[in-house]
Amino acid sequence: MALLKVDRETCTGCGLCLQVCPFGALTLDNENIIVASEACNGCGACVPECPSGSLSLPEPGKKPEINTKDYSGVWVWVEQCDGKAASISWEMIGQGRRLADTRGADLTACVLGYQTEAIAQEAMAYGADRVMVVDDPTLKIYRTDPYARCLVELVKQYRPEIFLLGASTRGRDLAGAVATYLYTGLTADCTGLEIEEGSNLLLQIRPAFGGNIMATIKCPDYRPQMATVRHHVFEMPQSDKSRQGQVIQGKPVMPEEEIATKVLDLIVEKNEVNIADAKIIVSGGRGVKGPEGFGIIHELADVLGGAVGASRAAVDSGWISYAHQVGQTGRTVRPDLYIACGISGAIQHQAGMRTSKIIVAINKDPEAPIFQIADYGIVGDLFAVVPALTKALKKRLNK
Ligand SMILES: Cc1cc2nc3c(=O)[nH]c(=O)nc-3n(C[C@H](O)[C@H](O)[C@H](O)COP(=O)(O)OP(=O)(O)OC[C@H]3O[C@@H](n4cnc5c(N)ncnc54)[C@H](O)[C@@H]3O)c2cc1C
Repeated sequence: MALLKVDRETCTGCGLCLQVCPFGALTLDNENIIVASEACNGCGACVPECPSGSLSLPEPGKKPEINTKDYSGVWVWVEQCDGKAASISWEMIGQGRRLADTRGADLTACVLGYQTEAIAQEAMAYGADRVMVVDDPTLKIYRTDPYARCLVELVKQYRPEIFLLGASTRGRDLAGAVATYLYTGLTADCTGLEIEEGSNLLLQIRPAFGGNIMATIKCPDYRPQMATVRHHVFEMPQSDKSRQGQVIQGKPVMPEEEIATKVLDLIVEKNEVNIADAKIIVSGGRGVKGPEGFGIIHELADVLGGAVGASRAAVDSGWISYAHQVGQTGRTVRPDLYIACGISGAIQHQAGMRTSKIIVAINKDPEAPIFQIADYGIVGDLFAVVPALTKALKKRLNK
């Protein structure tokens, strides 16, 4: 249903609003009165143009007339590109499964795209009870409008209680749009999700106030309860190919001619740094003293076959590019081995690496907070310790 309200008593059919609507969503009906189509996204550009004050939008934040008891089940959006699912979606399926089991509810995966049959099967293998598939050429490449409108219609029809999306670039974009259309709340970048005993509400836990406190956010009055979670915050679930489930075919809601965004070309960025998937990361912080200091960090990473990470202090100083940044405003990583060299271990840095399997800290200050989460700590000057480690490992690994 279009968001724009038209007062049929006062509308004169002057047509001024037609000229300003960026989405071509307004037309005159056979009584010469304005009507808004589904393409109206409530941007409000037309409202001040109407000389008779006949156009209005719902009050921002106005509670929609919903009964929260009508909503049940957990949904996860499965992100895909070129028919390949993003691993973050399976991490979300793993969490969705846990929450659905706690609620005694079904887990539904939503797969939007084109020629995505294999992904639907994979979603069931990772834990979905059913998969909602909308397979159409208009959904081949991610675009906000057709994806958001499609999910909004599905949510309106099936009424899930909880809706989770990965906090990838696309997931953040889509989650915001869907939550806005549905007039519900959204907690971005959660680091924990639980069900509250008694109320059965979703507890959405995330760092707040610059990472200095952990906030628990609830959405008691609106549905679905929506949250995004960053890559690697949760573990990948096990895949069980014998799992079976139901596949429900949905329909796209926007024909190509109504989609304002046209994709002319797709250029894949060659990003050689991918610390998010590295099994071993050697990171440098302000303690490396300058760009040259990263030389010994690279050498250690090379011997171990790992990637180079960095603290924000090192990135902000221009010693290394942002692609290497680990932390709350950088990448979240979960390697088997994380070696922090000259990094104090501020809470914002920890937010991106504390779930690493083994953490080694090298720091000359024995009181540095990084030692509180390190499995192994070396108190010393990194300019002596790191080259010595590299030398010893070269010998041991015959490199
Ligand atoms: C909203 C917000 C978001 C943020 N996001 C991030 C983020 O994503 N990632 C991030 O990293 N930070 C982030 N920060 C910044 C964070 O608070 C810290 O300022 C930053 O992590 C500090 O980096 P550092 O540990 O390299 O530097 P410092 O805190 O200055 O620590 C340097 C360490 O090096 C040690 N050292 C110095 N010389 C040597 C030596 N020769 N040998 C051994 N040790 C030595 C020192 O003892 C010290 O512990 C964020 C901050 C805010 C407010």
